[in-house]
Order: sequence, then C-alpha cells, then structure tokens
Amino acid sequence: MPRRVQVIGAHSADFVWRAGGAVAKAVELGGTAEVIALSYGERGESGELWKQEGQTVENVKRIRHAEAEAAAGHLGASFRCLDLGDYPLEIDGDRLLEIADERVPLQVEARCWCGARATHNARVVNGEVTYEGETVVVGDTSRTVGTPLFGDVVRYELLCRRHFRDGDLGR
Ligand SMILES: [Zn+2]
Repeated sequence: MPRRVQVIGAHSADFVWRAGGAVAKAVELGGTAEVIALSYGERGESGELWKQEGQTVENVKRIRHAEAEAAAGHLGASFRCLDLGDYPLEIDGDRLLEIADERVPLQVEARCWCGARATHNARVVNGEVTYEGETVVVGDTSRTVGTPLFGDVVRYELLCRRHFRDGDLGR
C-alpha cells in the first residue's frame, strides 16, 4: 500500500463511491490521502440544489465543496477542487501537470551522450574538454552557450568516466 494516495475525480463527490474504501484503508495503514476534484459538478449532478429558489452557481459550488470536504475528512483525506467547470469541463493540461509534478518527484540520473551514467562535469573550452584552469562558470544554459568568456567559449557537459578521460564529446 502506498504511503500517499492521490485520488483525482471528475466531480467533487466521485471519490466517495469510487475510491472511498481505498482512501480509508490507506489512512488506516498510516498513509495520507488527498482527493482532487476537477469540477464541483455544479450543473450535471446538483439537481436537488437547483430546486431551491434563487439558487446560484457560486452557492452550489460552496455547498458541494463543504459536502466533499466533510466526506473526505471522515475518511481522513484532504480535499481540493480545481473548479475547471461543469458542462463544459475544461481540462487544463498545465494544471494537471502541475499536480503530477508536485506529487511525483522525478529522480533523474545524469547521462553521458553514450547513455552511460555521467560521472564528470566536463569543462569544454572552445569545443575541447579541458582538465585544468579555474572553474569560472558553474552551470551553463542555452543562453550562455556560445557566449565568449574572456575570449573563450566555455560550457559544461556531463560525461561518463571514459569519455571524460578521452575528451570525447561524441561528435
Ligand atoms: Zn560516455
């Protein structure tokens, strides 16, 4: 059982019957759970609320938020809604990626151009790997590559031990 469970549902109450058991179990086992709703379902599945005189979208959302938050709280989970709309639900790819990024830290391993694990940050001066001299640039970006520094073009490239030793930049 994962230590952290994230449930993403289209509407604010979907998790109750779709994933309520999994959320309760994860929390019972010492994990944490977060429920994210894409929409409050303020139009398609809030029919009863719309029977009230003078009802507004904002009020339906407020009520739906309170209900979902209370239900999630009973299960030991937090709740938040992205409020992306209902009929139509406009899925915002950037926001979904933000959620994915904040919850799934990416373990990156630096690689040499040959595919081997990079163990050296080679200092490349005028296109040649150099092994001496002061480190005056600690990181390169596309903006600085090609910009002469004291007359030289200095950049850094991650290489495996063999290609660092051979000064082989793979081109
Ligand atoms: Zn290599």
